[in-house]
Amino acid sequence: LKTEIVGVVGSGLIGRSWAMLFAAAGYQVRIYDTDPSRMCHALEEIKLQLRDLDKRGLLRGELTADEQFSRISTAATLEECVKDSFYIQENVPEDAELKKKVHAELDKYIRSNSILASSTSAILPSIISEGLAHRNRFIVVHPTNPPFYAPMVELCSAPWTDPEVMEITRALMKEIGQQPVTINKETDGFVLNRLQYAILGEGWRLIRDNVISVEDFDIVMKHGLGRRYAFMGPFETAYLNSEGWKVYSERYADMIYRIQRSFGEPEKMVGPTLDKIQGECEKMVPMEKLQDRRQWRDRRLTALAKLINDM
Ligand code: NAD
Repeated sequence: LKTEIVGVVGSGLIGRSWAMLFAAAGYQVRIYDTDPSRMCHALEEIKLQLRDLDKRGLLRGELTADEQFSRISTAATLEECVKDSFYIQENVPEDAELKKKVHAELDKYIRSNSILASSTSAILPSIISEGLAHRNRFIVVHPTNPPFYAPMVELCSAPWTDPEVMEITRALMKEIGQQPVTINKETDGFVLNRLQYAILGEGWRLIRDNVISVEDFDIVMKHGLGRRYAFMGPFETAYLNSEGWKVYSERYADMIYRIQRSFGEPEKMVGPTLDKIQGECEKMVPMEKLQDRRQWRDRRLTALAKLINDM
């Protein structure tokens, strides 16, 4: 068991997940939320989730579910949450002004050697941290949802972040069982969302132009590309498919370039194509069945996590 404390600010979906990940690794966790009822709800949810993970043999770390739960407590004030924490993970809603306000307050209470991390999905680190006295201790630590089953986290420093903050955070993420990647330069959307939007953008154009249905496009991903992407990335895949990247380039570079040039301009996702996609999705999963389908997805993610952990 560790004596170090991690502060978790905001107890929504992502804050809760972080609390569980740090507790599983033996850290003491202090959660703070401006809405006390959300904090109570978060604790109840965490308890249920830990029991459920235990039942399914998926608990992380060496501690029992009850031991992990007992590592997590709530704080009455932001100051109490962060003043003794060596690492603070902020998870308030995705609004730049709100994040700046919360970090300005955090700035007053943190120790000069603590690390101040934000889960932001798309706000650049320099925007959130510019005016902070401790801006050299700030870093974006963007998780994938759900963090328990999709362990990749994007780490992105601001230009003024101490280099050791990146190093310590990378090591901490590995220690709690996540898979950190370093984003070397501030880039809108970091990398995961740029990729996600590239796929959605090309899907949008192909569906708009009647090249493929929504259902079949999703089959291309889940039974085609996705099968191997669950355990091997596209660069290694190409590397293996030919005798290395030089051969891959000799064989395919012209074709890839030709196809890439035909992609077309990005479009805002509104209008008749949107209605078409919504209509086809409703045929696959009626809106009143969304909750059932989410539960089905989480069960499949669990099974996949088990399979990959055993590799
Ligand atoms: P959420 O709405 O579920 O939770 C936000 C919580 O913050 C709420 O409980 C709210 O009461 C609390 N809060 C609001 N103002 C606060 C304040 N001033 N101080 C303390 N707490 C406050 O949101 P979420 O989905 O957990 O997202 C949190 C962050 O994580 C966002 O930046 C989001 O972009 C990022 N993120 C979300 C996902 C996702 O899929 N949900 C994935 C990766 C990253």
